[in-house]
Amino acid sequence: VREHTGAVDLVADLRAIVGDAHVLTEPDTTAGFTTDWTGRFVGRADAVVRPADVGEVAAVVAACSRAGVPVVPQGGNTGLVGGATPHGGVVVSLVRLGAVGSIDDASGQVDVGAGVTLAEVHAAVAGTPWRFPLDFGARDRATVGGMVATNAGGVHAMAHGTMRRRVVGIEAALADGSVVRRMLGLTKDNTGYDLAGLLAGSEGTLGIVCSARLQLAPRPAFVVCALVRLSDLESALAAARAVAPLGSTEAVELIAPECLDDPDGSGSPVLLVECAGAVDPSDELAATLERCDGVVEVAVATDAARQRALWAIRDGVPEAILRTGVPVKVDVAVPPRRLGEFLPRVVEVVAEIAPDAKVWRFGHVADGNIHVNVTGIDAFASLADEVEEAVLRLAVSCGGTISAEHGVGRAKARWLALSRSPEELAVLAAIKAGLDPRWIMNPGVLGLR
Ligand SMILES: Cc1cc2nc3c(=O)[nH]c(=O)nc-3n(C[C@H](O)[C@H](O)[C@H](O)COP(=O)(O)OP(=O)(O)OC[C@H]3O[C@@H](n4cnc5c(N)ncnc54)[C@H](O)[C@@H]3O)c2cc1C
Repeated sequence: VREHTGAVDLVADLRAIVGDAHVLTEPDTTAGFTTDWTGRFVGRADAVVRPADVGEVAAVVAACSRAGVPVVPQGGNTGLVGGATPHGGVVVSLVRLGAVGSIDDASGQVDVGAGVTLAEVHAAVAGTPWRFPLDFGARDRATVGGMVATNAGGVHAMAHGTMRRRVVGIEAALADGSVVRRMLGLTKDNTGYDLAGLLAGSEGTLGIVCSARLQLAPRPAFVVCALVRLSDLESALAAARAVAPLGSTEAVELIAPECLDDPDGSGSPVLLVECAGAVDPSDELAATLERCDGVVEVAVATDAARQRALWAIRDGVPEAILRTGVPVKVDVAVPPRRLGEFLPRVVEVVAEIAPDAKVWRFGHVADGNIHVNVTGIDAFASLADEVEEAVLRLAVSCGGTISAEHGVGRAKARWLALSRSPEELAVLAAIKAGLDPRWIMNPGVLGLR
């Protein structure tokens, strides 16, 4: 920090704002904030600061701005593109912003602090007529602030949209230490640029999300899950296309055979389908699956405990891959109609570059969103970058995007031009320059530095 600030002792300023206990500078205490969930992205922080409320966040950012020191916002540190991994500067950890307001029953909305985890949001609305419909495996650590900043998607995005659609109000500290707060949550509010929408997907480059007003959804009376084993990938994609348009379908997850610890499964893929509604969707789902070719086996769960057991199979896939080594994780989306081309081709494309690599494919198949994980290669070597680029180029050549839901971070910054035109990139840079003229907010992320 001294290197950045010259005579100004920023650490002393930060201690005065948040208290000594919440400014960490020793490597053994900052280590958990400087390495990502996969272990592939490792950085360095001059200090980690843990403010307690929006006032402290704003004061911390103002102090960093005066000193010209980079600010890296961080929530649960579960992001998978290196966006929360600092390369010097100050990590602002939002985990202490944990307040949850009471539900506004007239609108089905609730105000929550940026540090509230997804699981805590679910718990806060349990037992009410409402639910927060977004969900994914990192729920115990991923925070609302991180979810807004990455515009997180997850398993129910096909029915309930991504985080941008669920955020109807925002409070954020900007790069100069000012605070914008618009938490009205009105359905109709056409008074100019939508700040919540702008911050959704901004990955910490425009400001720090301190709280959000979330739009809940009515809790369905019936939920049914089906784990469907199919003879081959083609049949799985056809079944996914058959169930996706049912009005009750909320999730269609694909787990390719290589992700299943199943010696007797003879290499067959699995679909996990969830349907929900005010009337029982079981018959509709069963009738649709009966008409599908290649169905080998179906396990149905109508009670919460058995549904959790089925979801544990899907949620366990990333952890299982991580146990085999540091993975190269490539999150892409292609139009669902092109998945039949993308899924086999991605294995060939990786093998052409790295014949010893293992490719794992799983994801939110109804959105065309596939997580391609690659292990068996050195995730820190240039070969890993070559593999990643080849997968991204394949997705784009299939009419898709280089990032579906994880964001761009630092990992994909160099390839953003594959998905965005020069004119679009100029708009991104202009917005950045307008809100962060000293370019201190998460430099390098989204290619903005
Ligand atoms: C096992 C596993 C499964 C996952 N599944 C999914 C999935 O299905 N769908 C999905 O979308 N993602 C998924 N993710 C990725 C990750 O959980 C999401 O990107 C999540 O939104 C990150 O939240 P976080 O609090 O951990 O953010 P962090 O990792 O701390 O930060 C992510 C980015 O947001 C910025 N940021 C964090 N907090 C703030 C804030 N308050 N204000 C401004 N910027 C901020 C950071 O600077 C960084 O750029 C998964 C991750 C894991 C490990």
